[in-house]
Amino acid sequence: MITLRSHLQGRWMEGGSPQVLVNPATEEPLARAGAAGLDLAAALDFARRTGGPALRELTFAQRAALLEAMAGALQAHRDELLDLAVRNGGNTRSDAKFDVDGATFTLATYAEIGRSLGDVRLLTDGEGVSLARSPRFHGQHVMVPRQGAAVHVNAYNFPAWGLAEKAAVALLAGMPVVTKPATSSAMLAHRIVEILAEKQVLPPGALSLLVGGVGDLLDHLGPQDVVAFTGSSDTGALIRVLPRVVRNSVRVNVEADSLNAAVLGPDAEPGSETYDFFLKDVLRDMTQKAGQKCTAIRRVMVPRAVADRVREDLVDRLQSVTVGNPAQEGVRMGPVATASQLKDVREGIDLLARDGRLVHGRAETRPVGVEPGRGFFVGPVLLEVEPGADAPRVHSHEVFGPVATVVPYAGGPGEAGELVCRGQGGLVSSIYSEDAAFTSDLVMALAPFHGRIFLGSARIAEMSPGPGTVLPLLVHGGPGRAGGGEELGGPRGLSFYLQRVALEGPRPTIEKILGRP
Ligand code: NAP
Repeated sequence: MITLRSHLQGRWMEGGSPQVLVNPATEEPLARAGAAGLDLAAALDFARRTGGPALRELTFAQRAALLEAMAGALQAHRDELLDLAVRNGGNTRSDAKFDVDGATFTLATYAEIGRSLGDVRLLTDGEGVSLARSPRFHGQHVMVPRQGAAVHVNAYNFPAWGLAEKAAVALLAGMPVVTKPATSSAMLAHRIVEILAEKQVLPPGALSLLVGGVGDLLDHLGPQDVVAFTGSSDTGALIRVLPRVVRNSVRVNVEADSLNAAVLGPDAEPGSETYDFFLKDVLRDMTQKAGQKCTAIRRVMVPRAVADRVREDLVDRLQSVTVGNPAQEGVRMGPVATASQLKDVREGIDLLARDGRLVHGRAETRPVGVEPGRGFFVGPVLLEVEPGADAPRVHSHEVFGPVATVVPYAGGPGEAGELVCRGQGGLVSSIYSEDAAFTSDLVMALAPFHGRIFLGSARIAEMSPGPGTVLPLLVHGGPGRAGGGEELGGPRGLSFYLQRVALEGPRPTIEKILGRP
């Protein structure tokens, strides 16, 4: 069993009180990781004083070259990283690619964005404005990197992508990163940082790694620091009210739970291309990463008239999903990440079943390729509620596993929209319809409650990765239950790490600051 060390203050350090990381399919112990006793105040200080200046000295285009080198380093070690995702994450090879290739793709995308921003150290925000009758008195908003550290606390389900999607944006903006992966699946993030450190891809202090518990890291935050958190709403709520966060007005971005819905339009009749596209996406979201995706479809909203048919079609497809050790050929769905996650999923299924009935699967399953009784397995589970049922648990409790519920609606966009919005804010919901009027009405109802709306038309079916895939050019995050945060979205994501400042004064002076002749 190996010991994972943190990379802080430019060197590797071992912390105390380690937790054991296992293979979730076999429960074989793989590594230990602990952070007790590490000087996290000094770690943050090193990032601010060493990594920050080194990054800010570079232009956006030069920092883009760092991201490109990071993407290249990950790509060069792709097979090794995929193997780690299978062993420590319970990922099938296809799930592992989703995480690791997603990380590389996001880094490469932000490298491209950085190149397009050019050799500048500050960004202008909008056009300049005249502040008096004379054009001499001028105003211009600009954005500059904050001088603190960007603390990234990630969830267990995407150790590679979670690290990269946050780090890409912060580093491009010019902020040094202290990244903390969730402990249970930290081997992949640890190896990524090890590779980047070995190859000296980044300046010292630009990317630090904390493995093990978060300790007192957040008790040392200063006014120029930012925190980007991904995980449960409960932990997100704790972070928001930390005294240092409140007192120092530390910027906090929270990406939390979401009861993402997929709405089948009344026009998308069984057998149509749009209907098949819808089934494919629901099935993918239930089984990919064993449903442990913050964007996975949890509520399947269908017109009453076709509810029976949808249920039968989904059950038919779910029956052919092979659950087991993801290292074994032919396995389509692996285990969930930890014993406590398995317990949560089982309890969550029981809770949802109180609102309706179980139509496929059960909490216990017979996984292939593992000793009986080993591993944190749960088969795909489909539930259904009665038309018109209140189903309060279905609309409020996220089961972070391969579980979805069919919710029939009366047919119009009004009722569908009202049902979806009972989720109190989500990352993404989707509409599968070719009816423009139905789609527009539903978009207007859903938009205030979502970060992203996926329009599932047969016209994009061939090229679409479905609503569950977060694309770096589009915003990721959502209001309310989803945490109220916003990440990515192309250049938009940079603003979290930049300070917007209004320059007010003589136009020639401002033009000079902007580097304009
Ligand atoms: P979690 O228990 O909240 O943990 C998330 C991260 O927070 C881990 O790194 C964890 O470290 C750390 N943490 C735990 N206690 C903390 C504290 N008091 N202060 C600061 N950090 C603390 O969530 P999870 O079980 O890993 O992830 C599952 C949840 O994440 C689901 O609810 C899912 O919806 C959500 N999620 C959301 C998104 C999104 O983008 N919106 C993406 C993925 C997952 P340790 O592991 O060391 O405890």
